[in-house]
Amino acid sequence: MSNSGTKTSKVDPEAFRRSITRLMEIYRSMSAVADKSAITRCPYKDARSRCSAKFSCKNQYFIPGKPDEPAVCTGSDKLDYRYAWEQD
Ligand code: SF4
Repeated sequence: MSNSGTKTSKVDPEAFRRSITRLMEIYRSMSAVADKSAITRCPYKDARSRCSAKFSCKNQYFIPGKPDEPAVCTGSDKLDYRYAWEQD
């Protein structure tokens, strides 16, 4: 037995190149979706539609009787959320 029982792996450079190219296509596609989503979905809105912003926003709805709960985001993901942010 050669190599004292250790396995040597042979990498097919062409298969490796195809894999990397495919992986980059997947990442590029994911990035395009994320970029498009970021235009309308507020970055402060979590997966449960709760608001994590530390400032006032017209889209925040605080559940009565639950002051410690994060606000529910009532914003639409179809409109530009930035106009709802309140400044001062
Ligand atoms: S309430 Fe306003 S700041 Fe909070 S997640 Fe919704 S749009 Fe964003």
